[in-house]
Amino acid sequence: MNLIDGKALAERINEQTRVKINRLKERGITPGLAVVLVGDDPASIAYTRTKDRISKNLGFFSRKIDLGKETSQSELLKIVGELNADPAIHGILVQSPPPPHIDEERIVVAIDPAKDVDGFHPMNVGKLAIGDPTALVPCTPLGCQRLLLDSGIETSGAQVVIIGRSMLVGKPLALLLMRKGKGGDATVTVAHSRSRDLANVCRTADILVAAIGKPEFVRGEFVKEGAVVIDVGVNRVEGESSEKGYRITGDVAFEETASKARAITPVPGGVGPMTVAMLMVNTVTACEHQTGVTG
Ligand code: NAP
Repeated sequence: MNLIDGKALAERINEQTRVKINRLKERGITPGLAVVLVGDDPASIAYTRTKDRISKNLGFFSRKIDLGKETSQSELLKIVGELNADPAIHGILVQSPPPPHIDEERIVVAIDPAKDVDGFHPMNVGKLAIGDPTALVPCTPLGCQRLLLDSGIETSGAQVVIIGRSMLVGKPLALLLMRKGKGGDATVTVAHSRSRDLANVCRTADILVAAIGKPEFVRGEFVKEGAVVIDVGVNRVEGESSEKGYRITGDVAFEETASKARAITPVPGGVGPMTVAMLMVNTVTACEHQTGVTG
């Protein structure tokens, strides 16, 4: 079994991004990313901190905007409007999920599609669906595809089963992997909570992707001998004997699946770092499209 090292690949991609940013700077352009956090959800605080730290470290102009949990929908829309109009900002990310009084869909459609580095705007979702190469694609699916490509795992003609149909992971990943060309051409099945006989469906997979949000849901019996397993899940399991009082686990029961799999991603250190690396890639791409200057 091969461990697919997402952390190491993310570091390599980040170094390539750093080089591109330096080249853009030499041509008078500094790519800018705005990361907006509304509220005090601990996971969102951690995610936005990481994104801001890495973007600064790579040389982006990075603006981190922390808004109180009482921030109204109209205040947030006003800030998004200002960022849309700001020529120093090429990518805008509003950390999901916002507090419940905020209508996330209205925020997503308010972001200029050219600056939508999360790839959630209907314009980008539509472009991905029709195979338009100028689509900004959601970072987690993009990271999963890149992990497969970099690990030399053939997707063309492969049976892929994705568990999860969210707009964040499952659905865009299915669109990416069924796209014509490199990293695509797969035969994709998307399973969800209403799927019948899930273990049997999963056992047909050459590549099995778990994006469910349930700790260790995928057991050894779900995995065909020699399959590749991509674990997108990030779950906090409380009360374990660790210093923090919790541990992070994926959607896959690692030991029993790893013993059958040809290759598998760990959690942490698999898809997670790739998501952040692809956000940086998307921001450079957005900057290049907006300025017409390539790095
Ligand atoms: P989500 O929106 O809650 O979607 C979960 C999907 O799993 C849904 O399609 C749901 O089916 C399906 N599901 C739930 N229970 C199931 C069951 N018993 N059998 C089969 N399918 C089931 O979650 P998400 O946003 O896609 O995230 C999924 C996981 O990935 C979470 O752990 C999240 O933290 C993690 N994640 C990680 C990263 C990263 O960078 N590593 C990024 C994003 C998300 P229905 O549609 O029928 O409800």
